[in-house]
Amino acid sequence: MAAKDSLLQLITETSTNLPPDVRRAIKKAQIQEEFGSRAALALNTIVDNIVSAEEDVQPICQDTGMPTFIVHCPVGFNQIQFQRDIEEAIVEATKLGKLRPNSVDPLTGKNTGNNLGEGVPVVHFHQWARDDVEVKLILKGGGCENKNIQYALPTELPGLGRAGRDLEGVRKCILHAVYQAQGQGCSAGFIGVGIGGDRTSGYDLAKEQLFRPLDDVNPNETLAELENYIMETANRLEIGTMGFGGKVTLLGCKIGVRNRIPASFYVSVAYNCWAFRRLGVVLDPKTGDIKQWLYRDYEETLQRPENAFSTDGAIVLQAPISEEQIRSLKVGDVVLIKGEMHTGRDEIHKYLMKHDAPVDLNGGILYHCGPVMLQDDDGTWHVKAAGPTTSSREEPYQADIIEKFGIRAVIGKGGMGQKTSDGLKKSGAVYLNAIGGAAQFYANCVKAVKGVHFIEEFGVPEAMWHLEVEGFPAIVTMDAHGNSLHKEVAEDSMVKLEELKDPVFAS
Ligand code: SF4
Repeated sequence: MAAKDSLLQLITETSTNLPPDVRRAIKKAQIQEEFGSRAALALNTIVDNIVSAEEDVQPICQDTGMPTFIVHCPVGFNQIQFQRDIEEAIVEATKLGKLRPNSVDPLTGKNTGNNLGEGVPVVHFHQWARDDVEVKLILKGGGCENKNIQYALPTELPGLGRAGRDLEGVRKCILHAVYQAQGQGCSAGFIGVGIGGDRTSGYDLAKEQLFRPLDDVNPNETLAELENYIMETANRLEIGTMGFGGKVTLLGCKIGVRNRIPASFYVSVAYNCWAFRRLGVVLDPKTGDIKQWLYRDYEETLQRPENAFSTDGAIVLQAPISEEQIRSLKVGDVVLIKGEMHTGRDEIHKYLMKHDAPVDLNGGILYHCGPVMLQDDDGTWHVKAAGPTTSSREEPYQADIIEKFGIRAVIGKGGMGQKTSDGLKKSGAVYLNAIGGAAQFYANCVKAVKGVHFIEEFGVPEAMWHLEVEGFPAIVTMDAHGNSLHKEVAEDSMVKLEELKDPVFAS
């Protein structure tokens, strides 16, 4: 088998089939959450989604991220040809809908459409003394990438006070990193931490930690102790899955060190969502055949939960929605959407601030979503993955757009800020939290694609798709009365963070 085919298999499997260690962590979290709680409902939906993605060989999450390959190869291996093989496999995987076209020119905003472009995909080559080729791949989406954080010690941290240049300071930074992510990186999440290095190598080190199997033990005893402490302690913040509140906030923590220069002391944290898509293969350097899969030493099956997103007592919303119905909703209500909704994310929000909408949005539902779409030869579009994207990016625009167009409901994930909350109250609208990353679950709710606008201008993920849905569930997390579950959880978890202020490790 040519290397390109093996790489296509690696990309497809990484995008569609979570490795057993990640499944095990999610299964454990499911057991810990209280039956019937919002966190349990979110985890059930996540599990349902993982099973669907594997069965249908479709992306677990619509954001297939920045493809990042780490390649170890023997001396004399043709890296130039292998880079071409990787690029061809990426293009093919994109055509097949296993990857969303995600490569965008930062100046023009133009999507290349095939996941290639300056610096994309990311490929790191390393030579080694073995005579086979090892390829590891991580697909890390934007929602969690945006929650990565780097600290330069010493620093002052909200709730935790002074973080000095010692293990105590590092401990505080890591806890703060989990706190600041809240549910926006699709918690419950995994963190890779890099202590030391410089600004760039620190982040590289943090991301490298995400390639460690979840059940390994750090050979450095101090770091092993810190990893265990963080795993036990971070969950006391009770941010929970999707930031809904709950017992499980963190599913994994891996920490590495790299020497620093005396003047700099960085702690870098790479946050990864529950959709922790990383896999690897060992290839025969001559034939390109797969000799071994990595991270698959054992099997871990997940059972599809019955009625994953329990909608007993759910309120049906169908556009055009009246102001009266919206004002009757309150935080915690479960809604089931039917009928039409329109996708819109960064480019659409920017556009709508200055222009009219291409369709009537009065009483309508706006979905923060950049789906994976495939088109038949006859021009018919099909949704292949369609979970919510992080809503906070639209915070500067949302309230104005709701008011300007008479939108009654916005669906997304991670919640929005005070400006939007005030806008919801003023205009009579709600924010609905869908389960982040549940791209197959929500794609299955789409019954028809009624049309699209701006696909040429903005590309597939940023276009405005007009979707007909049935039984699309979500939770009201910000209502038209100024209440916000996100604000509540952020405040509660800050109180819990403050309780972790006192030193734990001797400095
Ligand atoms: S699960 Fe959430 S954070 Fe992760 S890639 Fe998907 S949308 Fe982004």
